[in-house]
Amino acid sequence: MLESWRAMPGVERLPAGEGGPRAALTFDDGPDPDATPGVLDALDRAGLRATFFVVGEQLEQHWAIARNARSRGHQLALHGYAHPHHEQLSPAAARDEVARGVGAFEAAVGERPTLFRPPYGRFSEASYEACGKLGLTPVYWSAWGLDWEAIGPDRIADLACRDLAGGMILALHDSARYADRESPESTAAALPEIAARAAELGIAIGPLGKVAQTA
Ligand SMILES: [Zn+2]
Repeated sequence: MLESWRAMPGVERLPAGEGGPRAALTFDDGPDPDATPGVLDALDRAGLRATFFVVGEQLEQHWAIARNARSRGHQLALHGYAHPHHEQLSPAAARDEVARGVGAFEAAVGERPTLFRPPYGRFSEASYEACGKLGLTPVYWSAWGLDWEAIGPDRIADLACRDLAGGMILALHDSARYADRESPESTAAALPEIAARAAELGIAIGPLGKVAQTA
C-alpha cells in the first residue's frame, strides 16, 4: 500500500525552455456539462490555453465537450476511467482502470493519450506499470487551487499563484463531481485573476505540451 502521493516518479515541473518563463495550466475531472463550458469561455476571454485531464466515464457521455475543447486549442490528456483510488484496487483492476481510460479516450478523441495524471495523485504499483506499458507519461502538479473544496475564486487564485514561477504546473478542476464542493463555478471565476498575476510576473501560461519524464 502506498501511503503518500507522488510515490512514483512523474512530471511535476516543466523543463526550462527557450523564450522566457512559462507555466502550465491543467484541469482535472471533466468533461462536465455544468462546468467545462464556463471554463472554456473564461480561458478564451483570458486568451489562455490549457491541458484537460479527462475521465473516461465522463468522456463516454460528454465527448462533444472534449472535442470542442480540443478544437479551441486545448490539449487533452487522461485522468483514468472512473476516478478510483488506485491503491484500493486489486492489481488487475488497477491495470484495467488505466486501459479502460485509454480505450474511452481513443473512442472519443480519435487518438491515443500520451499524458496520465492519477486521481488524487496516487498510483498503485500495478497502475504505474500499466501506464508505462501503454506509453503514458505520469504527470503530477506543482501547485493547486484547492478548488475541490467550497472556496471562492479569490482564494483559488491566491493559492494557485502563491509561489507562481516559471516551470510550475497548476492543477485546477473543471468539475465538482469527484469533490466535496457543490458548484464548480468558482474555478472559472478564478481564471481572470490567475491570468492577470501570471502576466504581471511575465510568465506565459499554456498547456503542458510534450513533457517527458526525466526522473
Ligand atoms: Zn481528479
